[in-house]
Amino acid sequence: TMTSTITTTNPATGDDLATYDVFDAQRVDDAIVAAHELHRSWRRESFATRASVLHAIADELDGRIGPLAELMADEMGKPIAAGRSEVEKCAWACRHYADNAERYLADVEISTDNTRSYAHHEPLGVILAVMPWNFPLWQVVRFAAPAFMAGNAGVLKHASSTTGTAIALDELFVAAGLPDGLFRTLVIPSSRVNDVIEHPLVRAVTLTGSGPAGAAVASKAGEMLKKSVLELGGSDPYVVLEDADLELAAATCANSRMINGGQSCIAAKRFVVHSDVYDEFIDRLTADIDAKVMGDPHEETTDYGPQARTDLRDELHQQVAASISHGARLVTGGKVPDQPGAWYPGTVLADVTPGMPAYDDEMFGPVAAVIRATDEADAIRIANDTPFGLGAAVFTRDLDRGERIAAEELEAGSCFVNAMVASDPRLPFGGIKESGFGRELADLGIKEFVNTKTVVVG
Ligand code: NAP
Repeated sequence: TMTSTITTTNPATGDDLATYDVFDAQRVDDAIVAAHELHRSWRRESFATRASVLHAIADELDGRIGPLAELMADEMGKPIAAGRSEVEKCAWACRHYADNAERYLADVEISTDNTRSYAHHEPLGVILAVMPWNFPLWQVVRFAAPAFMAGNAGVLKHASSTTGTAIALDELFVAAGLPDGLFRTLVIPSSRVNDVIEHPLVRAVTLTGSGPAGAAVASKAGEMLKKSVLELGGSDPYVVLEDADLELAAATCANSRMINGGQSCIAAKRFVVHSDVYDEFIDRLTADIDAKVMGDPHEETTDYGPQARTDLRDELHQQVAASISHGARLVTGGKVPDQPGAWYPGTVLADVTPGMPAYDDEMFGPVAAVIRATDEADAIRIANDTPFGLGAAVFTRDLDRGERIAAEELEAGSCFVNAMVASDPRLPFGGIKESGFGRELADLGIKEFVNTKTVVVG
């Protein structure tokens, strides 16, 4: 039979990095069966035993921080300083679940007419994780740490472009003492994800990625009557009111838009700005974005590297061009550099209105869309005028006003006041509308993939 392969590419140069053999159907089946078998003993281990492995994983992450950051820089262009932060955050999540999973999954006593009644939490078995390249370690660990602590097993279909990072993580888990095969990276193309979902020993699936990938995976899971959790795209609105601290707002908006070269699901994407401060905000935002250094991901001083893939860069540039042709004003950036690799500069589009990709669609790169609002109500209307609902933020010096808008008005899974939306292992994370369903992190995250079993003693 023909051996197919996946080749990874350095987006900074366009050069090939490595070639991996794709797993055949037998190897995938073997991995799922092995994960299932190992989970049967893993689930019987004490929380303390599982926690000691999670702490060892965190220590291994800390110990490999440099090489892991270099690998992400090579595979998807993440600056090494940001890569090191990502590794540290993964270690934090492992320690968080090591220290809190037992409490999160404790029996919940409920008094009834019986001798005793309670909710008890049991693992489900093998969970399939389909993950994207943008935070190639974090996305996986955000799933894996609670899964391992709950007693589940996992198989990973990672983005093809970060196959090396996926394999490095698989090896790291084993080196830390996780039973060899409780978690396995499956090197397969996305066309074979359905076969994994169909496997009788795969109990559920979690996907982080685009809407089309989420719809395909959730459809298959639905057909197989298996649970799914989806973390999809976003077009997060940051509302800037007339009483905002504009220096703070612009700096925070620029940081949130430019994080990871703009390739974050919870990056700020639409800036909905009150007329009174519209021009000043654009000047400040543009200055802050222009001040970011685009360059070699291996340099410490680099703020953002290339986009992860040239096809995604080209798609982004088309969105920019179409927005301009529909009347958006290009304030800075917007030109594809004449050099190999997937480069795209920080870009600001002003006067963005409905009917433009910058207003209607997610822009997964360093492009800020600024939209004018006449007053608070108009700003809230525009912020919610999107099919997405992942994160949102509001800037105002009036904290009561900010909190009211965040808590009561903005349609999103996470709403921040005077700060950028960020995930935190202690806080639930997820979206509504086309940004997906289910939650990750915190207690809700670990409870997504357990059987909440009602136990009654008569
Ligand atoms: P993507 O194309 O959806 O890829 C994500 C993963 O899904 C990859 O492993 C990919 O494998 C796989 N995949 C793609 N199509 C599939 C299909 N039809 N069936 C099964 N699996 C499939 O997304 P991307 O371009 O890598 O990432 C960008 C998108 O992800 C953005 O929309 C972004 O907002 C979203 N995202 C969301 C979050 C969040 O937490 N909500 C986080 C990060 C990114 P291959 O690589 O082999 O195609």
